[in-house]
Amino acid sequence: MISIDRPVQTADLGDVRVANRAVVLRHVRRHAPCSRADVAAHTGLNKATVSSLVSELIEHRLLRETGLTENRVGRPATMLVLDGSRYVGLGLQIGADELVVVAADLTGGPLLTWRRAFAAATAGPQETVRALAALTRRAVTRITGADRTVLGLTVGVPGLVDAAGAVPSAPALGWRDVPLAAELRRALHDPGYPVGVDTDANLAACAELRHGPYAGTADLVHLTGGLAIGAGLVSGGRLLRGGRGFAGEIGHLPVLAGPPDGPACRCGRHGCLTALAGVDAVVRRLLPDAALDGPITDYLPEIERIQALARAGDEPVRAGLTEIGRQLGQAVSVLVDLLDPEVVAVGGHLAALAPWLLPAARAEVAARAPGPPAAVRIEASALGSAASALGGATAALATVEAGQLPVG
Ligand SMILES: [Zn+2]
Repeated sequence: MISIDRPVQTADLGDVRVANRAVVLRHVRRHAPCSRADVAAHTGLNKATVSSLVSELIEHRLLRETGLTENRVGRPATMLVLDGSRYVGLGLQIGADELVVVAADLTGGPLLTWRRAFAAATAGPQETVRALAALTRRAVTRITGADRTVLGLTVGVPGLVDAAGAVPSAPALGWRDVPLAAELRRALHDPGYPVGVDTDANLAACAELRHGPYAGTADLVHLTGGLAIGAGLVSGGRLLRGGRGFAGEIGHLPVLAGPPDGPACRCGRHGCLTALAGVDAVVRRLLPDAALDGPITDYLPEIERIQALARAGDEPVRAGLTEIGRQLGQAVSVLVDLLDPEVVAVGGHLAALAPWLLPAARAEVAARAPGPPAAVRIEASALGSAASALGGATAALATVEAGQLPVG
């Protein structure tokens, strides 16, 4: 509840109304279909306030009415559901060998998921910005053609992202000091909606919080699979960003120490988790012939080859996957000791190879638990390889869900 302990000013009343709008939207999202009386009874807001807020939300096409119900005591009531027909959030993701765009509306489900092949590790920032802008323009054309409004765009990057949406460092892409949000805004000719950037791991964790089997889990971690491994950390229902927004860089945790033991990582050190279990490292470790013709630019067929070999019982591939799973488990056990999460969901190639990686990872975490056995569940993410883009689309809708009325 919001308390006001100083003279009431207009701004305070506005803030209260914004907060109350968010309360109503949240209640309907979780309990739809529900009536105005249900909302009042469960939120503690009085009926007149709920009625006024609901009218406003219907007017802005954030809620809609859906018939009457007589399935309760008293008069039949008009039921409310979220209206997904008007506003759309866009999420983009820079993957190992592709760019992905997802559009989602307030009701949550993705409206479109488009992919385009793209070798981000060799393309450089300028070409990446051009390709992201082209993909965005196509998606925006489709969305506005269907009489919908884009509320915002968020891009997920496998690297560090600061508060201004710049990327100080992304070793997996070979980027340093790329003002990505500003460049993308310029390439899109200052569109009328906000353009944001976040780490792909943070966005994937936001997607896990909202969608799929772990939605609503207060303490969870999403580990991205891809060129870099990053951790999106949720503790007590909130994303942990750290002081500069750089929390969760688990990919450069030293799993094997020192140059004699660990392979070189693109960050300049040796034996990092990414250098052992990132998608490029996994393919090179398990398929020594894959990189004979130069850098690998298309990972999906190689991951499918590894799956086929593992299914067929190929001994070196199975042993290699077990070893990688153990190393993944070492990193996960650090997360477990620090955060005590209920769920660690792995994405990307780690999810694709989960049947062979995760048993070894779970055994490693159990063996390293200092106290009682860890209760954490280590599972493949159910959100597929567009989790970060889905999280980006969700993030773009956050201001509306926080009770701000959309403009336009
Ligand atoms: Zn590293």
